[in-house]
Amino acid sequence: MTEKFLPVQDYLPDSGTYELLPFKFEPVGADEVILTNLTGEFLYLKREKLDSLVSHRLAPSDADYRALRARHFIRQPNDRATLDLLALKTRTRLSRLANFTNLHLFVVTLRCDHACHYCQVSRQSEDRQSFDMSEETADRALDLVFRSPNPAIKIEFQGGEPLLNFPLVRYVVEKAEQRNRVERRDLQFVVATTLSMVTDEILEFCRVHGIHISTSLDGPEDLHNRNRPRPGRDSHRKFTDGLKKARDVLGYDAVSAVMTTSPASLPRAREIVDEYIEHGFDSIFLRPLSPYGFAIKTKSYQAYDAGSWLEFYRAGMDYIIDLNKRGVRFVEHYSSVILKKMLTNDDPMFVDLMSPCGAGISAVVFNYDGDVYASDESRMLNEMGDATFKLGNVHSDSYRDIFASDALLSVLEDSFASSAPMCSDCAFEPWCGADPVFHHATQGDILGRKPESEFCKRMMGMIRYLLDVMRADPQAKSIFMTWVNS
Ligand code: SF4
Repeated sequence: MTEKFLPVQDYLPDSGTYELLPFKFEPVGADEVILTNLTGEFLYLKREKLDSLVSHRLAPSDADYRALRARHFIRQPNDRATLDLLALKTRTRLSRLANFTNLHLFVVTLRCDHACHYCQVSRQSEDRQSFDMSEETADRALDLVFRSPNPAIKIEFQGGEPLLNFPLVRYVVEKAEQRNRVERRDLQFVVATTLSMVTDEILEFCRVHGIHISTSLDGPEDLHNRNRPRPGRDSHRKFTDGLKKARDVLGYDAVSAVMTTSPASLPRAREIVDEYIEHGFDSIFLRPLSPYGFAIKTKSYQAYDAGSWLEFYRAGMDYIIDLNKRGVRFVEHYSSVILKKMLTNDDPMFVDLMSPCGAGISAVVFNYDGDVYASDESRMLNEMGDATFKLGNVHSDSYRDIFASDALLSVLEDSFASSAPMCSDCAFEPWCGADPVFHHATQGDILGRKPESEFCKRMMGMIRYLLDVMRADPQAKSIFMTWVNS
């Protein structure tokens, strides 16, 4: 029988004897540190209090003592409830891992009408149909999709420009829906498109099947056209026309947008945010360039470092916070993922900020030719001649071959940030993640040498910014709370 109440000693006054529970700390300023624990709870302490804490001299009457106990940094001897709570919160944070893969990316074609400098996909010209996914490949990929134990399945169509192979999109949607009559999963579809080729017929199909659109907007017209060249230099006009059409048919909320920060974007954070607001979006993802594909080939990745991107990010965030204070609700998604880990007991399992990393277990990529990759970036590395993160092929490998492959298991094993050099001692680790593909691509080392890592610099910069803002500005913290609880 389960006990209804804890033993009586759990209710006795605090004896002043305490045990330390696992935590890490990081200096903030000259005489303060921030402490974090396994579940991402945190508090600030004066350095001398930290000394008292670790030498077991902190008095129960001290306000910091009570805060430390409430947030599971210390416990009384035999205080079982604290350990149980800590374990429960840790389990809750990691619980979504058990669901395994949710996001299944279908690269239905490499063909594209754009020639973006930073493109990750080694796009092919519009007429090379040998780079289209076939129905046979799609069928085999769908077999694997429905082997995932996840009750929620999201299929995202990517390219190239997926609308150039829309018959295959149509085929996959109808086949998946047919299978789902038996499977009864929470099935969702997204098409990632620039909207330049959208037609009434395509939109009608999307409406009937509840398909969402994820499009791209890099900023004001000149910047967008510069980042996303296409014949006629009219990508922004095509986007604007396509957005209106899509919203008219699918509704406002069925269309979202992502942006990529090119070197030309760096001084223009406010204008980019304004452009999003002008087009009626209520959020943005200030996304840095990835070091893959054309981004490496055209050297645009090296065109700016983490420090320059952080300046852009801080300028954008300062402006976004100001807008929210003036009553314009507008969310920055990258920050929102980190804040969710800081301020709630939830981990949104964002693929790039997971530990272990989300490659393969949170998202998986089916390439047009049937190759299966741990992530979009892994696919790009393969195009550059590096097959480290290729998991198999739908035509020759079984579910077990692919998802229990050494390629995937060793990446997962090496991507527990809590046991990685430097991360294991870093107070920001509960809010950070691991990006083995990035570190392999930039340093030839899956674990990554964090003192030289652009990923680490970016994460440290973002986390310190968010902590500083929340500390200095209670109104900004309230705004962040609304972001993470919506
Ligand atoms: S990558 Fe850097 S910021 Fe993130 S946990 Fe590791 S050391 Fe800390």
